[in-house]
Amino acid sequence: MKSLSTLAWSFTLFLFLVEPTHSQVFKEPGKQVSSASLRAKIDCFAPTEVTANVSRLPEAEQKALAKIVDAARLMDPLFLRQVWSGNVEMAKTLEKDGSPIGRERLHAFRINVGPWSRLDDNEPFLAGAPAKKPKSAAFYPEDMTKDEFEKWVVSLPDSEKEKARGFFHVIRRDPQGKLILVPYSKEYREFLEPAAKLLKEAALLTANPTLKNYLTKRADAFSSDDYYASDVAWMELDASIDPTVGPYETYEDELFGYKTAFEAFVTLKDEAESSKLARFSGHLQDLENNLPIEARYRNPKLGSIAPIRVVDVVFTAGDGNRGVQTAAFNLPNDERVTREKGSKRVMLKNVQEAKFKKILVPIVERVLAKDLRPDISFDAFFTHILAHELIHGLGPHDLKVGERSTNVRQQLKDLYSPFEEAKADITGLWALQHLIDKGVLDRKLEKEMYVTFLASSFRSVRFGINEAHGKGVALIFNILTDDGAFKVDQATGLFRVDATRVKEAVARLTGRLLTVEAEGSYDKAKDLLARYGVLRPEMKKALDRLGDVPVDIEPRFTAADAISRPLVLR
Ligand code: ZN
Repeated sequence: MKSLSTLAWSFTLFLFLVEPTHSQVFKEPGKQVSSASLRAKIDCFAPTEVTANVSRLPEAEQKALAKIVDAARLMDPLFLRQVWSGNVEMAKTLEKDGSPIGRERLHAFRINVGPWSRLDDNEPFLAGAPAKKPKSAAFYPEDMTKDEFEKWVVSLPDSEKEKARGFFHVIRRDPQGKLILVPYSKEYREFLEPAAKLLKEAALLTANPTLKNYLTKRADAFSSDDYYASDVAWMELDASIDPTVGPYETYEDELFGYKTAFEAFVTLKDEAESSKLARFSGHLQDLENNLPIEARYRNPKLGSIAPIRVVDVVFTAGDGNRGVQTAAFNLPNDERVTREKGSKRVMLKNVQEAKFKKILVPIVERVLAKDLRPDISFDAFFTHILAHELIHGLGPHDLKVGERSTNVRQQLKDLYSPFEEAKADITGLWALQHLIDKGVLDRKLEKEMYVTFLASSFRSVRFGINEAHGKGVALIFNILTDDGAFKVDQATGLFRVDATRVKEAVARLTGRLLTVEAEGSYDKAKDLLARYGVLRPEMKKALDRLGDVPVDIEPRFTAADAISRPLVLR
């Protein structure tokens, strides 16, 4: 699973009563949009250098890294083919047009990896594009209906059924028009064979055994379609170079959500942040023991927390580099692996920093009282994100409601996501304050974290409160405002933190949300979200001032380009 952190991504699953047939898909082709509107779409993404300190690696590791980036580059043309069967032809046509508008069309096409604007509910922006982005992507025949697929699957032997609904086979038609299974290794051989070769060359270069193991097993998976061993090796990876290359997320398959898209995140481990995390982790039980809730709701013995890695991106490709940039991800998705080995959360620190500079800083200049602006800091921003992630593991989880054993997720049902996100955000602030008061964290963080949180609230709710994180942030923002911790100057519409009230207000709200979770009360959660998970006029007015702030970044991978040549092939 990915988080994008700018939350522009709509996770809405549209329910179509009738799946469009092939001819319907093409009936109303996308209109060529004007140059100005194309430019506006491109300008939503601020070009930004994303780089990492490669020179600190020993020479052999640098060479291995270059090979891994070379392999990762192959995920771009592969993913291009997965998005839409017409993508390669369209890319070729666009590349031939050297006029200024032609170059802008190609630019917008590259950002979106296709002719549909991912920020605008996949609205087409190029002539010749189908009016609707095919939900089947290029994983299934475009004229196949859900019904045809289901009937076919039922007729298959069990092992084939699993493949049909599995991650690693596309569905095609034989010459008679019958549906058939084609393994990824065959469908994408043109890219997977050279990628496997490069990963194996990198495995020979690196001195780190866990990296060698992952690269070798992942290369084997590209020809066997069995990713289990390499997913396990990924969980055990402990090296300066931390790559993630392969078929992972299923968002692109909007028909069933079965088929994985290829992506690459080639990253370097951030040693300083990793040690900060380790320092935090040592205080988790102490935090739990001091949560501002009734003692009986605290957990006297916390279980182990899923590992978190902080890394800097050197290069991303494929599904990992289209539209809004991924800020963090949780993998693997294969339940066979997560049952045995758990999953790992990877936080892309330099991507988050780029978003902070290009998006949050301009927002601050439009919404925050002038005298507070110098208190905005990336360190406070990122430290709170780390705290948020760790806090998901704290507080009530397994519950007894009456005689019945249950858990918070089951009790809160559809409200769980926004509520749990709000809990992690507010308890994250409370936890940092606790560690500051104990002298574990620098006192300087105190002012910075509240001001930075206030400013970043506007970023979170900017794209609406229908998404879990945006709704959770609106809830916190409104309750803290009512409690006097946040204030708006009616004349200027600028916001500020009341330093004399914020600490107690945060502790009160932490206790309130954690108690609702401990009671497993759906009704109380519903009431809170209905009353506070809304956009009030002051906030809406502030959001209206953010129109010209970019939505996300368009990364330029300068460190990767210095060690590995960009591909020319499509
Ligand atoms: Zn969260």
